[in-house]
Amino acid sequence: MIRPLFIVGTRPGAIKVAPVVRATKEHPALDPIMLASGQHPELVRDALATFALRADAELDLGPPSGGLDEMAARLLDSLSAAIDRVRPDVVVVLGDTTTAAMGAQAAFYGEVPIWHIEAGLRTSAANRPFPEEMHRRLISRLATVHLAPTASARQNLLSEGIADSQIMLTGNTVVDALQFVVAQRATAANPTVASLIDSPGPVAVVTMHRRENWHEGIRRVACATLRLLDRRPELRVVHSAHPNPIVRNDVHALLDGHPRAVVTAPLEYGDFALLLARAKFAITDSGGIQEEAPSLGTPVLVARRETERTEGLRAGVAMLVGTDEDRIVADAERLLDGTSGLASTVAQMNPYGDGRAGQRIAHALATRLANVIVLRRSDGEEPPLAAAGTE
Ligand code: UDP
Repeated sequence: MIRPLFIVGTRPGAIKVAPVVRATKEHPALDPIMLASGQHPELVRDALATFALRADAELDLGPPSGGLDEMAARLLDSLSAAIDRVRPDVVVVLGDTTTAAMGAQAAFYGEVPIWHIEAGLRTSAANRPFPEEMHRRLISRLATVHLAPTASARQNLLSEGIADSQIMLTGNTVVDALQFVVAQRATAANPTVASLIDSPGPVAVVTMHRRENWHEGIRRVACATLRLLDRRPELRVVHSAHPNPIVRNDVHALLDGHPRAVVTAPLEYGDFALLLARAKFAITDSGGIQEEAPSLGTPVLVARRETERTEGLRAGVAMLVGTDEDRIVADAERLLDGTSGLASTVAQMNPYGDGRAGQRIAHALATRLANVIVLRRSDGEEPPLAAAGTE
């Protein structure tokens, strides 16, 4: 059996890896192990539970210090030790989190091949978004196999000199995850969400968490929300506040007490998906929501200066609005009035995936690594790192 070690640390990581882990569990040639890094332990536990999954082991990183450097150092240390203990055939990391970057680095030092899910996303600046853009660039230097979600991600990797034979176009696993939860439930478990979904009138969903938007950007989006609520008495807004206190405190300080604003703790993924499907539009700096919204027919105002998810912009389902209050209010009102270019172009095929990425990745793990396992068994020794992951 081939033993892939999946390393996850954050909510989007858990949501996006879940369909792959489920597919590998069903594959007769694969014996997956899932390790939670301890970066966001509760969010990861909750997200995995939605998919009836639990990590096989969870690392304890100790009390958070707030510093990225300390978090990275603790992760590198703990993940290296875990890789040494497990001795997997391959380490699989996803996306651009500190967990993914340090997981890849630890696997490199442990001389274990690295597969990177959601490879090839790029913006034009190495430090924007910070630190994610540099994380994904570093992982691309370390990885053996690059699982690109879209054709443009694949093109980005080719432009950086990565061999075509090391890239696979898979679709984004978030589309699989979304299809799974939407098929599982018709109504929301959370009573506040269920009543919002059932009541008439437009609902907007807001989430903000990126470092580049901490303080000023998040406050500007909350102020734009208040202005919209003033101008549109029929509108209700749900702001799902990230648990990071730097983010959460600003949102509560500005929106608490408004009768048509609901500030919630993170919602369970299935409930959040139902709410997003019901929403007239979303305002967000999230990557995952940009990828999910097209499947749900929900247009997205992207509260960032630049996005690596350009497919949604090109498909006319998302629009970059930054965090300028006037711009957000004007574009949101156009969506409410049905006069936005976005409103008429939603509900097309999702440009990010078709819901079969997990199956493709499981199949690739079983077939591309089969040679490596046979080689190792017949020679009685590990193959060179370069042999792993090649056809
Ligand atoms: N999400 C969720 N509950 C919430 C808000 C978001 O399950 O209350 C999901 C959302 O559907 C998406 C993911 O969390 O799949 C996005 O996470 P986040 O915005 O933290 O990270 P990013 O996508 O920017 O990496």
